[in-house]
Amino acid sequence: MGSAFQAQTVSASLNAMRGFTSPLWPIRYKPFPDELLSCWLVRLAHGHGLKVQTFCNLMFGNRRQVWNRDIDRLAPAWLVDELILRTGTSPASAWGTTLRAYEGILYPKFRLSGTSRWILALKVYHRTRQGYGLQFCPACLAEDNIPYFRKRWRIALNTVCSKHGTMLFDRCPHCGAAVAFHRLDMAGVEAIDVAPLSYCHSCQFDLRDAVPEKPIVYDSDASSLLLDACRQFGPDGMLEFEWDLGRFAVMHQLCRIMTARYKHACLREFVLGQIGVQDIELSGGHISFEMRSIQERHHLLQLTGWLMADLESRLTAAWRAKAVRYNLLLKDFDDPPAYYSLIAEKLSNWRDRLAE
Ligand SMILES: [Zn+2]
Ligand SMILES: [Zn+2]
Repeated sequence: MGSAFQAQTVSASLNAMRGFTSPLWPIRYKPFPDELLSCWLVRLAHGHGLKVQTFCNLMFGNRRQVWNRDIDRLAPAWLVDELILRTGTSPASAWGTTLRAYEGILYPKFRLSGTSRWILALKVYHRTRQGYGLQFCPACLAEDNIPYFRKRWRIALNTVCSKHGTMLFDRCPHCGAAVAFHRLDMAGVEAIDVAPLSYCHSCQFDLRDAVPEKPIVYDSDASSLLLDACRQFGPDGMLEFEWDLGRFAVMHQLCRIMTARYKHACLREFVLGQIGVQDIELSGGHISFEMRSIQERHHLLQLTGWLMADLESRLTAAWRAKAVRYNLLLKDFDDPPAYYSLIAEKLSNWRDRLAE
């Protein structure tokens, strides 16, 4: 009872205060720890008793479209600054909700166009999402008083929840739809008794009820290396110095090489043979790592993790087996760290391969 009335009063009060005294909104939620910008914005809209679209039109005007782009990655200043002003949130925590926070860690420099390394692609088409770019952990959602979506769930190398040790999901297990909580309130005519954000917008399945799965482990050293990488972004994540832009870049480069087939050289086949694991079917074509499903990423990451657990000797072994070439190691790699270039250099002379 009363929700429509409440919505009216809240929107009336919003109208009344436009241009008046305080710039603050009646509802001034602050971001939860590691909450995504888009999630925070949707909570604010619903908190005001309004549909997301209505709220955004009211606040940002009809000309500023919010949901036809990846606002978490793009983080438009007009949007973030407005939220800072209207909710009294500190600029640091407001900007901390955006994927710009990973600049200089996961990718070197923010670019407006294209994609960012390690940031999962949403593939926004109008207001729908064609990509599976937002993952979730059902156990994390279930533990929340108010379920919300974490920034770290947009990272392509996160396939396992560092808190629960179970696989993340990259889509609704019930209907297969990509997560799009901003569309939850579109079905109903009137705002606004919206379901918690953990509900699938497409089939209403509560994502908290998804059954957590244990991750498949190919090699325990590789798995702990990967878990360590995920943990850098975890609930109490403090980036350790060895996990820097360079190391994440090497990991990304090796993940890319894993899917390259170059003059019969196939690094993936070599690693699979070494650890005695079957390949899985991978999406064809030149798709980036950030567009792959969680199963494909988990598979490729584990092969890469095995290499990284003893990088120089395992890469050298792969090179001796003609599974990888020097030029492929550095191909399209703009910012290799010095130690990686050094390893690659050592593998530049084919005569050395014959020496043993
Ligand atoms: Zn979790
Ligand atoms: Zn669903």
